[in-house]
Amino acid sequence: MVIILKDGATKTQVNDLMDWLTRFDVKTNLVEGVHSKIIGLIGDTTGIDIESVQSQKIVEAVKRVQEPYKNANRRFHPDNTVIEVRGRKIGGGALNVIAGPCSVETEEQTIKTAIAVKEAGATMLRGGAFKPRTSPYAFQGLGKEGIDILKKAREETGLPIVTEVMDLSDLDLFEDVDIIQVGARNSQNFTLLKALGRCDKPVLLKRGLSGTLQELLMSAEYIMSEGNTKVILCERGIRTYETATRNVLDLASVPLLKQKTHLPITVDPSHATGVASLIEPCALGAIAVGCDALEIEVHIDPQHAWSDGAQSLTPEQFTATMEKLRAMAEFCGRPIDTAEN
Ligand code: PEP
Ligand code: MN
Repeated sequence: MVIILKDGATKTQVNDLMDWLTRFDVKTNLVEGVHSKIIGLIGDTTGIDIESVQSQKIVEAVKRVQEPYKNANRRFHPDNTVIEVRGRKIGGGALNVIAGPCSVETEEQTIKTAIAVKEAGATMLRGGAFKPRTSPYAFQGLGKEGIDILKKAREETGLPIVTEVMDLSDLDLFEDVDIIQVGARNSQNFTLLKALGRCDKPVLLKRGLSGTLQELLMSAEYIMSEGNTKVILCERGIRTYETATRNVLDLASVPLLKQKTHLPITVDPSHATGVASLIEPCALGAIAVGCDALEIEVHIDPQHAWSDGAQSLTPEQFTATMEKLRAMAEFCGRPIDTAEN
């Protein structure tokens, strides 16, 4: 961290500031030029609140030269994190495809979808039991019953289950879930993230609705700093001025995140685009730029889906898409995970 001091800062003021900075367990290095003075901080500055430094009387500007996240940072953990889920490995070099309905609606709908996506080569099953809906009058999810249905679908197919937690008070219900998803709307629910950090379960953390990559990494840091290092990041599009698609898929985020962090990266082309016909091309692109997993919405009857039908593939469409994804994954040297329990 570099602190640029205001013109006219006196020796006493500079010494007082250097004294104050020693509380952060870092070394200070004062550089005095003819017209300006700069303090360089050496050591771990992640615990320093940049705004509190900025608010010191003689401080003109503050610049971080090192990322404020430690646990998620590739600089300190060069090897990729590999997360094992019932024999499948996310981040281990093979591609995982998480597929299933936006919402768990009925047992029949979920199990039929689970069987179909498994047949097509999906490696995990997704399904929302607690649904974050813009309208309080829209279907809110089946709650506990939804999780029980997902478990039955897992029994039937062997596919690990991925489902979203919305509220801290429901966390006990997720004990037997394989991957807990944190949705875009909860991406900065720090109380929830900290609680997940105290669980021993993989967390699929989505990027916030207008979240920056640094905010996503800081959210991962919230989970990891509490002890849980099994975090999978998810690019699901961000809101911009463009209205032609539901969100704008930021594919550059994948290779960029790969440089910055050792955590596995998922891409969700369903929520990123909101348009079923865009899922396949975007998924192919996501594989090409290096994602470790995809999350795709599939519904046995999208036209009558209780949520997100427009961005869901039919099982037939998903099967055809999987053919192309398989070819692309092989071409990219990351074939689809074929592990079974
Ligand atoms: C979902 O995956 O069902 C979902 C609500 O996604 P997001 O949080 O990305 O909007
Ligand atoms: Mn959805």
